[in-house]
Formats: sequence, C-alpha cells, structure tokens
Amino acid sequence: MSDNETSRSSNFIRQIIDEDLKTNKNNGRVVTRFPPEPNGYLHIGHAKSICLNFGVAQDYTGSCHLRFDDTNPNKEDSEFVQAIQDDVRWLGFDWGEQPYFASDYFQQLHDYAVQLINMGKAYVCDLSAEEVREYRGTLTEPGRNSPFRDRRVAENLDLFARMRAGEFENGTKVLRAKIDMASPNINLRDPTIYRIRHGVVHHQTGAEWCLYPMYDFTHCLSDAIEGITHSLCTLEFEDHRPLYDWFLDTLGTDCHPQQIEFSRLSLQYTLTSKRKLTELVNEKLVEGWDDPRMPTIAGMRRRGYPPAAIREFCHRIGVTKSGNSVEMGVLESCVRDELNAHAERRMAVLRPLKVTIESYPEGSGEMLVVSNHPQDESMGTREIPFSRELYIDRNDFLEVAPNKKFKRLVSGGEVRLRNAYVIRCDEIIKDAAGNIVELRCSHDPETLGAAPEGRKVKGVIHWVSAPHALTAEVRLYDRLFNHPAPDASKDGKNFREHLNLESLEIVTTCYLEPSLEHAKQGKVYQFEREGYFCRDSHSAEQRSLIFNRTMTLRDSWAKIESANMHSGVLGGVNKHPRRSQ
Ligand code: ATP
Ligand code: MG
Repeated sequence: MSDNETSRSSNFIRQIIDEDLKTNKNNGRVVTRFPPEPNGYLHIGHAKSICLNFGVAQDYTGSCHLRFDDTNPNKEDSEFVQAIQDDVRWLGFDWGEQPYFASDYFQQLHDYAVQLINMGKAYVCDLSAEEVREYRGTLTEPGRNSPFRDRRVAENLDLFARMRAGEFENGTKVLRAKIDMASPNINLRDPTIYRIRHGVVHHQTGAEWCLYPMYDFTHCLSDAIEGITHSLCTLEFEDHRPLYDWFLDTLGTDCHPQQIEFSRLSLQYTLTSKRKLTELVNEKLVEGWDDPRMPTIAGMRRRGYPPAAIREFCHRIGVTKSGNSVEMGVLESCVRDELNAHAERRMAVLRPLKVTIESYPEGSGEMLVVSNHPQDESMGTREIPFSRELYIDRNDFLEVAPNKKFKRLVSGGEVRLRNAYVIRCDEIIKDAAGNIVELRCSHDPETLGAAPEGRKVKGVIHWVSAPHALTAEVRLYDRLFNHPAPDASKDGKNFREHLNLESLEIVTTCYLEPSLEHAKQGKVYQFEREGYFCRDSHSAEQRSLIFNRTMTLRDSWAKIESANMHSGVLGGVNKHPRRSQ
C-alpha cells in the first residue's frame, strides 16, 4: 500500500482516537477488529468496514483482529471462513498471526454467564419464543416480567447446568439477562443471552456445545477478552450500545472497549444485504458468490477490479454517521482511474470482420514493436504480427458514412490501423443474403507508425492479424440490477424483478493478439477502444480462453442517470466527477 494511501484524512472516529491518545486512555494502544459472521461471502459494504478497521490500526501502528463472530452454527460454514480470509488478504490487509473465533471463548463466555447468575443478574426462562416476544412490550408500552424472573440463584445454576448437559429440548428454555422490562430501550428488556441448539455441528467446535450465546452477549465480551480499544460497528447497533456497556460494567471486565457507530454503505444498482445475496446464489440467479456481477469481494476480484481501486473507493466515500447511498459510478470511476494508469494495452477484436490487404505481398509478414502503455514507458513494449489478412471490428466499418462525425472506415475511405498502416477500402464482399463478409483493402507502405506530413486520416481503428489471432470467448458484464435501489424500490416490486436481464452477454468468437496467450488470470488489460478485460480465473478448468470485461472505457450509465436525475428519480444523489480516458 502506498504512503499516500495510508496517510488518510481524518474522520470523526480518528478524531476520537486522537483524543484518546492525547489523554493516554488505553495506554496509547489502538486495537480494532473486523468481526464477520461466516454465513456468506464479504461484499463491498464489508470492504468499507475492513478499510476502516485495518486502516485505523495501520495508521496508528496498532493492530486489527480478524474475528469470526461464529455463534450461529445453523447458517455458518467453513467455506465462508476460508473465503473471508482470502478476501481480506486480497484487499491488502494483514491480521497478524492467526484469526480469532468467538467460539474460542465459548467456555469463558459460559463462565461469565454463570457469574451473572450468581450475581442475580441472569435467569433461566421457560417462556416460548412467542411468549418472550409478547412479554417484551412495544416501543410505546413497557414489557412485563417473565413469571420465571424471580427464580433463585441455586435453581438457575442447576437449570443452566442441565441446559449445558443437554437435558432440555431446543426452544424450551433460554438464559436471559435480568435488566429492566420497562426500559425505553427494548434491547435492555431482559435480552436472551443463551439458547439451546441440539443437532447442529459447529464448524469450529463440532458437537461440543448444545448451548450457543447470543450476538450481543458474545460480541462485547469477545472485544474485552481480546483487549480491543475501539469497537467500530454500523449504526444499527447504536441502540445496542447500552447493552454492550451493561454486560461489561456488570461483569467488571478489565478492558472496556468503546463502541462507536458509523453508517452502512449502500451502493446503487446492487445489494449489500448478505441474506439477499445468499438468495441470488441459492436460487441460481447468478453463477455463484464470485459471479463477476456480484458486489462481493470475490466477484469483484474475478471481474478484475484492482484491490487498490476498492480501497480508494472506501477512502472517497469516507466514514460518517449519516446514511449514504453511493452511486455505482463512484466505484466504477475508481476502477477506471486505477486501470487507466496501470493496465497494459492490447488489441482484440470482439465482432470480427475479415480484411484482406491486397497490396501487401502474399506470404509475407512483419513484427511491429508497440508500447504497452501510451503514457508510461516503464511498462515496456511488445511485438505484434502484421500480415495480409486481418480482422477489424464490424462496428468500425460502414458502407456509407452516416455523418461527418463517423471517423472509421467507409467504402472508398481511409483509416489508420492502430500502430500500423493507413489502409483504404477498395471493395466490399457480401454473401448471398447481402451481409458484408470481407473487405478488400490496400495499404500505404509509407505510413507505418506515424503519418507523413500532410497526410490526413480521420480515424484510428484496432485490428489483429488473422493467421496469428487467438480465439477467445469474451463475457461482457453490465450492472446486475436496472434499478438504483433494487431492494427498496417504491413500486412494491421484489428485488428479483429488478434484475437486469442483459447483465451478461457472451461473445463466443473474438480474436486476440497472440501475446495474450499467456495472460495471467486476473491480470487486467485494456483492449484498446473496447474496455478493460481480464482472463477469467475459472478458465483453467475449461479448455478455451475466456476473458471477462472488467469495465467499459466510459460510463455508459451516466446519460441514463442524468436523465433520471432530471425527472427526479434520483434527486439529491451526490454527483461525482467522471473522467474520460
Ligand atoms: P448482513 O446484514 O447482510 O447480514 P452483517 O452486518 O450482519 O450483514 P457481518 O458479517 O456481521 O454482516 O459484518 C461484519 C462487519 O461488517 C460488521 O461490523 C458490520 O457492521 C460490517 N458491515 C456489514 N455490512 C456493512 C455495510 N454495508 N457497510 C459498512 N459496514 C458493514
Ligand atoms: Mg452481523
């Protein structure tokens, strides 16, 4: 990571930390954590939290723990544990020696629960889940005490031990904290802290436990056990903070981390809900968690988004307490900026049209040395073959120019082949149905590389040499949804109904310059005039060469969005600068 990236401007959380350091609050230590639940893959929203937690630790020479919040074995899986580690590492962050697991503390947490019982601060309750809900009251009405609230300590200890020993069925008993059923904060109305779960195998602890602690109880105590100083979480936990503090104060833990909340990221034209992303995967509406259209880190990696672009995005959006829905264009422009600066250039023809240069001697050919990047010489050069038979893109030819702006090839007109000669179209060959199947052209041998004085050619098009070309399948991706808020649209439609049915176009026969034969998976190239592309990371399993389009060169949605803005659909959304390539 560059110095420039790490010396980041301030935000309200960094101001709190600066203040704590001034007063030597935690003996000058800064320890944060990123606490994913291993029940799905990480998405762009998690990236915001990762960049914040690991970024703060980096900048204050502290540390950040990767901790799996694994208290709900029903939904968790070791596949997710592995994927989360891969993703955090790929984003460029390091959690030190080993990841942490809340399940490592199951015994300690159990002992804390026993301590609460001994203090008269927790009781075993036999109400059913539905009754617990009924007794809880509402936002406007206080709750009612459970009839089991006044069980004696000895009875609670006995029942809790028998719950632990597996004597009771799922759902028949829970352990609850004894706080205040009339509290205006519903989270403090005797929250459940342990529930019984028979018949599940936990990915870390196997069948050792049939009791599982609840998130609110586990999270604060895990933070305290690990000596976390600043526990950064999203705003929906603001109302849980009194409970976070209650557990730590009541139990008198040595360490009492400070919980600070910030707003969740939501990104337009996609989803940042793990539950809904899980549905897309399970219902096979996408290829999998790493489908290149998914807002998951694995999907963005496969699509070719550079990790530095994702980190830059998290920097640009900042960290605040106000809710924000960010335009997809902001993320895309981070990706374009990064790739424009760092991607090597190549030539590839996506919709091939054969061209024969009749003036070029049959059987001959030459190697042209061309640069890999127009501005950055350090990226070197490569050789590309030129020959009598080429492919150009169908869209770069029209029999008759529709207007003066058309700078590509027309019948009888001239165009420059990028890095090579100026050619003229002399003849059009059509099939019986009238489709153009080939162009016969002639070249000007004096024009290799640069145009001689006084030679005016309007356009430059890309090409590949036909006998040398590699055949590839190219997958053109577009946004997965065609509504800016697919899960919150006002038309009452379900997010599935906003899926963009044209989000994947597969072009099966594309021609690439031969240097792409050994393209590394995931390495992104700019196919000149076409966009950014990378070799698919699954294609090793397949025989053919497959490339994913990472990004178009320009934001083709900008126009649509600006039209929507004018009609008020997206009123109030931040505008962002767009850069043309
Ligand atoms: P979901 O609501 O989709 O289940 P989650 O927040 O429960 O997501 P976790 O695995 O518990 O998912 O999240 C790990 C951490 O990432 C938490 O600290 C959470 O606050 C943070 N996080 C999750 N989603 C976002 C988001 N959209 N923006 C910022 N931070 C997020
Ligand atoms: Mg969560």
